[in-house]
Amino acid sequence: MIRTLSLFEPEPLRFMSLTSGSCGNCYYIGTTVEGILIDAGIGARTIRKRLKKAGVDFDTILGVFITHDHSDHIKGVGGLGEKMGKPIFSTIGVLSHINENLTVQPKLSTASRREIRKNETIGIGNFSVTAFNVIHDGHDNMGYRVEYEGDVIVIATDLGDITDEVSRHLMQAQHIVIESNYDDEMLMNGPYPQTLKNRISSGNGHLSNRKASEWMRKHWTPQMKDVFLCHLSAQNNTPELAYNSMSNALEQAGAKDGETVRLKVLPRRMESDLMIL
Ligand SMILES: [Zn+2]
Ligand SMILES: [Zn+2]
Repeated sequence: MIRTLSLFEPEPLRFMSLTSGSCGNCYYIGTTVEGILIDAGIGARTIRKRLKKAGVDFDTILGVFITHDHSDHIKGVGGLGEKMGKPIFSTIGVLSHINENLTVQPKLSTASRREIRKNETIGIGNFSVTAFNVIHDGHDNMGYRVEYEGDVIVIATDLGDITDEVSRHLMQAQHIVIESNYDDEMLMNGPYPQTLKNRISSGNGHLSNRKASEWMRKHWTPQMKDVFLCHLSAQNNTPELAYNSMSNALEQAGAKDGETVRLKVLPRRMESDLMIL
């Protein structure tokens, strides 16, 4: 079959994780001509290097959107904002606390900051980006919905529960990046002190394999093409447990990895492949 190429055909959208987990989080969404980053939890030079290795031109990055002010999401914002001139977008609740974090060097000047509000859509290049509230224990916390030429990708990480608001956004997405932080049993029987176990599993901590999978089992629809599991715990989870939990849920919902949906566990520390969405 011959595919007719229109001059106005949109560039394919690509996604990659540069790192995921408590060691650092950073996600790329973009085309060959424009892109954005969500979070910058590793050094700016490493981010640039990993993008380059994947064939992504750093100059095409239009801005960086921050989910919250924990170190594993903001360590690289000073370098990206101050040294490399990338605007850093988040709510005032996050932006005003970034510089209190000791890992952020250099500090972020007001010139690099771009204040956004939750539930307001902003245009950047050909992307429309909307922050939505999530429940977590940063100073302010949000997920992002990114729309490009009708494709919707939703990133929901560092959240204790999937609230109705989060659910509404996820249900509109073709591409979902969702936290699958811990296995209930591994956390319960693991080495963490009880206070930390409580913090993680409370409604404003992290999302378990079970919570992420249960949501999917109830809500998967055929328009959901990609499910990327992020922010896996090194101590309280394994990629196999996270994958199996979600894969079973998808099968119960009538979806199968490799056929109706693509299910991937995003690697900790290392970058994923650059994937066409
Ligand atoms: Zn985190
Ligand atoms: Zn966090």
